[in-house]
Parts: sequence; structure tokens; C-alpha cells
Amino acid sequence: MTDLKRSWVDSANSATCQFPLNNLPYGVFSIGAGPHRCGVAIGDRILDVAGLESAGIISFDGTLQSGIWNSFMALGQSHWRRLRHELTGLLAEDSDRQADIEPYLVPLKEAALHMPFEVAEFTDFYSGRHHATNIGTMFRGADNALPPNWLHLPIGYNGRASSVVVSGTDIQRPHGQLKGPDDEVPRFGPSQRFDIELELGAIVGQRSRGPISVQQAFNNIFGYVLLNDWSARDIQAWEYQPLGPFQAKATATTISAWIVTALALEPFRCSTPEREKELLAYLQEPGPMLYDIELEVGLRPQDNSETVICRTNYNEMYYSAAQQLAQHTSSGCPMRIGDLIGSGTISGAEKNSLGSLVELSWGGKEPIELNEGLRRSFVEDGDTLTLRGAARGNGYQIGFGSCAGTLSAAK
Ligand code: MN
Repeated sequence: MTDLKRSWVDSANSATCQFPLNNLPYGVFSIGAGPHRCGVAIGDRILDVAGLESAGIISFDGTLQSGIWNSFMALGQSHWRRLRHELTGLLAEDSDRQADIEPYLVPLKEAALHMPFEVAEFTDFYSGRHHATNIGTMFRGADNALPPNWLHLPIGYNGRASSVVVSGTDIQRPHGQLKGPDDEVPRFGPSQRFDIELELGAIVGQRSRGPISVQQAFNNIFGYVLLNDWSARDIQAWEYQPLGPFQAKATATTISAWIVTALALEPFRCSTPEREKELLAYLQEPGPMLYDIELEVGLRPQDNSETVICRTNYNEMYYSAAQQLAQHTSSGCPMRIGDLIGSGTISGAEKNSLGSLVELSWGGKEPIELNEGLRRSFVEDGDTLTLRGAARGNGYQIGFGSCAGTLSAAK
């Protein structure tokens, strides 16, 4: 386990700080009516790296001027390492550059945060074993819970890049075509079973054409964000067979504003759980490619306090993002810079470690208890759902910031 790297930015040196020098997550911010700028979080500040590049203190082919991280990603892994290395040097406690760098620090609380990258395409997987078993049991019965392919390959569906929004964006309850098991005919109306899915999103930082190995896939992943795959369960139940989710998942997907890089997560690598069936060679991992990241979900009803409704860990996933990406390219599917790969809902084995409300309330049959005597089966109008995540080192944490959204009433 690695130790805290100390910075001359004092607020970055506390064990509770989400953005110590070990982290250096990438985001896009603006101040007032100013333009979108690439920035890096350090303690309670944002380092304006676009400004650093303009001043000639760092140099990355002008890519940091674009107000979005895609063009920097395109430079490739040696540049990803070099930026991290140079920023670590400039911000380290023993740096002699403090006076040069200090003018480029902006208080985090004064900044508005925006989409950190342009989502090229969005794919969502279904790689949490407990989640797949729970959903399968509810939708198809315990005997057919896990589809026959599930232990042999990571399954997923192509989602909508246009639906991905940054943390803090309001979500509106969708309408959809609904037909419950006892309804004779379908009707059109607001979803009554609107839900969340706690996921991690992997960001593809390099183009590929044709199949790539799991190792190459791992190398091509730039970083990770928290991801909430908002899901209308009643729309989903009626529409999903045989082609999978469609409008149930198209309303919105929220991501956190900070990209935590794969390089920052390096000390927290861990193996996927033991295989029940041996995987075909093209899906086998050459080393640990999952991460130990603690995750939680908070639910705050309007005008009330928040209750943490789920605590789990990314190390529960049966397939890593590298395996998912290798599977995604196995047919020759080209991948683009900024492709977003959702992990699938991350549920643990325990009742309080389930990453969606449909699991927590078991299809609405067992509402969960919140503070102040409130109960929930699904998301209600005015509820704010917040995902949080942290990898924990010796006296520090690699935080993801928050991934929050508030549901407003259907219009
Ligand atoms: Mn999902």
C-alpha cells in the first residue's frame, strides 16, 4: 500500500481530502461567464492546466487549450504519463516552482464543472454477478436467473452517447409505454418504477480497429468516472425482449465531473473473482485489472437529510473493463477516443450492498427505510441520488468527487 505524497497545497495533505497529490483527476471547469478550461483537482483547488500550457510551463501540443480532454487523450499513453509526472513534480511539497504555479490555482468552490470529455459512444455492460442474478430472478425466475452465456462473456448493449450528462444535471421523470403483468393492454404514461444503477464508467483513450487483446484494452483505458445509469424498470420490463433495453435507459446517464486516471488507480489493482468456468483465451486477463474502490449511494428526499442506502466495492465485478473492451472489439468493432464503457450495476452479496433500488426493495415488495421514517421502493420526485467512490491508501484516498442528480416530476 502506497503512502500519501505531500503537496505544498496544504488542503491536499489530509486523509479525508478526495484530491491529494496521489490523485490528480482531470476535469473541465469555468469561472463565471468564462470559457470551459481543462483543470486538475488538487486539495480544495483546481489547477488551470490550460493556463500552465499558455504560459509555457508545460507543453502538450496545445491540446489542453481545447476545453475538453479528448484531444489530450489522443496523444497516447506516454503523454498521459508525462503530464502526471510533471504535475506531480510541480505540486510536490519539495518543489521550487510554487511561486510560478500558485497564480494558476482556482478555488474549487468558485468553479462550475462541466462534461470532462466528449462521449463518442456509450456501451453499458452487465458484469455484476449479484446484480445479474437478482434482476434475472425478478424478471425470469430463479431457475433462469443467470443467462447461459453470462459466465462465458461480458454481455452488454449499445447505449446513447447523447444521454450522458455531468453530475448536477437535473433528471426528468420519463414517460413510456407501460404494460404490467395484469394489464390487458399497454398504456403511455410517466414511469412509476424509476431507478438508479451504481456503476463505474471506463473511458477509452485510444482508437482501435479490429480485435485487441485484454492487455491492449487495459493500456487503452484512460481513466474512470462514477456512472449512474438511470433506469425505468416498468418501461424496461415491457420493451426489453428480445433486443434488450431501449427507452428504459435513454433518458439520462449521469457521470461524475472528474476523470480519475488509470495511472492514479495503479496501486489499487486487484484480480477479478475466481472463475466458475474457464474463459476462452481471448478473454483471459494477464494480470490484475480490476480495482479496489469503495462505493456508496446516498438518497436525499427533498427537504430531508440523506440516507446512505448502499455500500459496495468495484472489486465485486466478474469482468474488468479491460475484458469488456476486448470483448467489444472481438468482432472487429472499431473503438473511438471518448468511448464510455459502463461496468454494469455493482452489487455485493449483502442486503445493504445492492446498487439499484429494484434490488434493494426487491421489485418494490420490501421498501427500504430512510431517515425520519420515510420509505422508498423507487426514486420519487425531488429525490437527489448521489454516488461516491474512493480507493483508500495509507493516510490518503483517491476520491471520485460526487455523481449526483435530482429527479423532477414528469411534464
Ligand atoms: Mn446499467
